[in-house]
Amino acid sequence: MSSFKGTGASPGLTIGKPYFISNEVDFSIKPNRSLIESIESLNERYDYLIEELKNANRDLESEIIDSYKLILNDPEIKKEFEKINQEDIEAIYNVFANSANLLDALEDEYFKQRAEDIFSIGKELIYTMQSIESDPDQEDNIIVIAKELTPNDTSSLNLKKVSGFIVKDAGPTSHAVIVAKNLGIPCVIGIDIESLKKESDYTVAINGLTGEVFLNPDEKIINEVEKYKVTNEKLKKGYTKQNIDSSQIELRANIGSNEEIDQFSDDLIQSVGLFRSEFIYIDKLSKPSLEDQIKVNEKLSSKFTNEIVFRTLDIGGDKEVKYLHLPKEENPFLGIRGIRHSFKEEDLFREQIVSILNSSLINKVKIMFPMVSILEDYLKAKDIVFEEAKKLGVKAPPLGIMVETPAAAINARIFGGHVDFFSIGTNDLIQYTYAADRGVAELNKYQDPLNPAVLNLINNVIQVGNELNIEVSVCGDMASDQEGALILYLLGLRIFSIAPSQAPLILSSILKANNQLSHISSEEILSQIDSQNVRNLIV
Ligand code: PEP
Ligand code: MG
Repeated sequence: MSSFKGTGASPGLTIGKPYFISNEVDFSIKPNRSLIESIESLNERYDYLIEELKNANRDLESEIIDSYKLILNDPEIKKEFEKINQEDIEAIYNVFANSANLLDALEDEYFKQRAEDIFSIGKELIYTMQSIESDPDQEDNIIVIAKELTPNDTSSLNLKKVSGFIVKDAGPTSHAVIVAKNLGIPCVIGIDIESLKKESDYTVAINGLTGEVFLNPDEKIINEVEKYKVTNEKLKKGYTKQNIDSSQIELRANIGSNEEIDQFSDDLIQSVGLFRSEFIYIDKLSKPSLEDQIKVNEKLSSKFTNEIVFRTLDIGGDKEVKYLHLPKEENPFLGIRGIRHSFKEEDLFREQIVSILNSSLINKVKIMFPMVSILEDYLKAKDIVFEEAKKLGVKAPPLGIMVETPAAAINARIFGGHVDFFSIGTNDLIQYTYAADRGVAELNKYQDPLNPAVLNLINNVIQVGNELNIEVSVCGDMASDQEGALILYLLGLRIFSIAPSQAPLILSSILKANNQLSHISSEEILSQIDSQNVRNLIV
């Protein structure tokens, strides 16, 4: 057995046969189809894929393939073809490579992504000319291994047969990672693929939480994977309405992309506890129109019968929106992000509020403001919502804040006199409490949610909520984590807004807290000196 360590990007343990996807083009293979014929054939393939993806509710991918078609048939590209020898596949590929390189040089994530798309279409056209087809008959239980995985690649896969992903060049929000997370498929990123290629005829096991990859795993690892599968099956059996009701909790979904709306399917979760609305604005060339925004809101509204906590645009920090030209900041996480940015771009903020009030969300929405640290900001945002509601002649919905700064957590009682609900954003609350950037892996030990400093802040909000009868939920990742959810339950939290694929796991943790650990008091938890001691209480 040999092992490798990357970064866990979508949790879960799995084992399967390696299935390499190569993105390299071999120009020594002679083409046996003409350029014109191949463009036609690729157009047909794209049409077929668009339909298939739509039928499988993979709307985002179908939209991407739609945009591939536009690039393939772009008149500028066609003009370039006229200037070259149309039998020279390297020259054909270079038509795409040249325009991709121009975009790639722009030092801008959006254009770099588009450059990747153009490379990918160029490669696909050459494969078509060479009659190299992607394997239509994938075996069951494959672990897809690739240097990078474009939407083109994932859309060609039968994802029902994929048990895991290993991708070298991907980040936590890359397309392949989002697809993996949505479908609950374990994924490890940052692994050197070349070293995996050196061996042949092996099985591969991956741990999507720790980022470990094992080639020809030994019996211990195989047993762990088996145990994980059995436990998972058991967890799914225990994931029932009765168990949710018996622990008097409510589970809500965190939703942050079109794809997550489309693919959501869990009868036990009827509401959204955190709608990360940024995706409507990010990764676009220009601002979405009011109609486009309303369209997304309608889709969201039709998918969830109960309430929807809609977080207004949370940009700044690590989330950029190109066309808004945010100024470069020394410390963007401490800068003009969340509600602070919304005040700077008030028209954009008002239009988002109008898009909510003007859609059928109005009957079930609660509006939540991100990055609120002072009461003045909340009151100003509230005034704006009330003004827009008055203009439209509708009743303003309940309003609340994300508690994600220590200031908001400590001043929960002050905010409590004005808000309708609190939702604790532990991801940011933790980074601001430890003063440690949440994106820096080296600082992981300063990200532990169980440190009493973090727990005391959370507890203050829960207590104030109880006393003032104000709803408190947690929508940060701590609620989607087994130990985190267990401690939150023991501290008295009852509304958990989580990554939907984690629901059975979280419910099992809460049942454990309810059935076996209810003797542990908040005082005992909060008086521990560090995370390890908190952890020792619940093992
Ligand atoms: C949080 O900060 O906990 C949160 C849920 O918001 P985001 O991760 O989108 O910053
Ligand atoms: Mg946050």
